[in-house]
Amino acid sequence: MADTAHAARFAEIIGAANVLTAASDKAPYLVEWRDLYQGVTPMVLRPGSTAEVSAVLRYADEQGLKIVPQGGNTGLVGGQIPQESGDEIVLSLGRLNKVRNVDPDGFTITVESGVVLEALQREAEKVDRLFPLSLGAQGSCQVGGNLSTNAGGTAVLAYGNSRDLVLGLEVVMANGDIWNGLRALRKDNTGYDLKQLFIGAEGTLGVITAATLKLFPKPKKLEAAFVGLASPEDALQLFSLAKGQAGPILTGFEIMPRVGLEFCLRHLNGARDPLSGSHPWYVLMELSSGTEAFPVRDLLESILGEAFEKGVVEDAAFAESLQQVNDFWHIRHGMSEVQRAEGGSIKHDVSVPVAAIPAFLNKAIAAVEAMVPGCRPVPFGHLGDGNIHFNVSQPIGADKEAYIARWDEMNELVHGIVHEFNGSISAEHGIGRLKRDLMKQVKSELELDLMQRIKTAFDPKNTLNPGRVL
Ligand SMILES: Cc1cc2nc3c(=O)[nH]c(=O)nc-3n(C[C@H](O)[C@H](O)[C@H](O)COP(=O)(O)OP(=O)(O)OC[C@H]3O[C@@H](n4cnc5c(N)ncnc54)[C@H](O)[C@@H]3O)c2cc1C
Repeated sequence: MADTAHAARFAEIIGAANVLTAASDKAPYLVEWRDLYQGVTPMVLRPGSTAEVSAVLRYADEQGLKIVPQGGNTGLVGGQIPQESGDEIVLSLGRLNKVRNVDPDGFTITVESGVVLEALQREAEKVDRLFPLSLGAQGSCQVGGNLSTNAGGTAVLAYGNSRDLVLGLEVVMANGDIWNGLRALRKDNTGYDLKQLFIGAEGTLGVITAATLKLFPKPKKLEAAFVGLASPEDALQLFSLAKGQAGPILTGFEIMPRVGLEFCLRHLNGARDPLSGSHPWYVLMELSSGTEAFPVRDLLESILGEAFEKGVVEDAAFAESLQQVNDFWHIRHGMSEVQRAEGGSIKHDVSVPVAAIPAFLNKAIAAVEAMVPGCRPVPFGHLGDGNIHFNVSQPIGADKEAYIARWDEMNELVHGIVHEFNGSISAEHGIGRLKRDLMKQVKSELELDLMQRIKTAFDPKNTLNPGRVL
């Protein structure tokens, strides 16, 4: 059947206004943040309810059509972009944006998958609660995308990954069946925990339409410091000291190199250097407490005082207001964006055991500098989770395309070092299309076979996100 006939059928299900076929209407759904993929699709579908998602999938599955779920389109591995073959239909979940239930006493919230993360955070705040997931793309990314990628972000240290924040899910299966698993239970040992299969599945097993999520007490006291250090070894020592003394109230510990801060100072609106001198490395550390009476500032000062005495830190600026806390985070959250203004950047989203971070960084930095003399490594991120965004900007004045052409070669080099440290080649962004071909290198035959069997059981016709992950 021709695309026009399918479009007409979809228009009956979701309304003609929500079937986008004009090139200009489809365009925003076909490019992604890093410009790595340029998608082609016959149409973008924008259902407005779970029932509509179900009817769309039932028809697509019957007709042998291929469906690519898309949330906020901020994913960094190409999973949400239709392939260049041009036969994959984009299913945009943005209209499923209702808050279904807020339960401040039970510390839960139930939202549809198209709710933007920042809006969800605000809903929690309205009832004096915290939804802790926090990442640079939070103004655009959506709950369904967050869960489908098992997003990490800056609060994993204290609250865990997205996976840890979910109590229940509603999912539409590839054949249109609706699984209502929207339970709000903290304890439920009744067999296989199916929801966990959909979290991190990158849209290959089902379409998430709603989720019941955990809420937490809203921090009453928040303190942050921007710390200058000489080396990643010192950053690890500071982390050990801070985690040892603050335990669960250490809610952020992010590392950045000087060159990353310089990029921010050059290209990020409103960014100012929090310290007067220059330091090779920086750590943004945050402590927060749900109890007003807890002396958070005293604890932060005591940790940094001890670190000074031990010669672990060179300088530190304390945030004197919430605005200053936000200013520190503005720099950290801007770190990805500013790299675009410096030409080509080859990315690695990797993790190693926390204690191995300094050795990994030293070895990987030396290796990429030997491979591309003059390149500018900008490794930054979640030191407390062992997760580094090992990004490498092109040498000043180099040809961007020629540099980017070495993407696979540099990935192989860095991933080899990650492997030596028993790390992961995808700490939080997922596999998508970008890293699919690397799966054979990092998973055993048995693991891949089990994953394929799950995929076949859930989506026998390979309707959902074909060619992603597996
Ligand atoms: C500036 C910036 C900073 C970032 N920082 C972080 C970070 O700190 N930590 C982190 O983990 N990620 C980060 N990311 C990556 C990205 O924001 C996350 O992966 C985010 O969770 C994706 O959400 P999304 O709604 O944009 O999903 P999309 O990009 O639309 O989709 C991502 C994947 O999920 C699938 N999908 C989307 N919605 C659904 C659904 N409802 N049901 C089933 N499958 C679905 C898609 O098919 C695709 O495979 C960052 C990205 C940017 C641009």
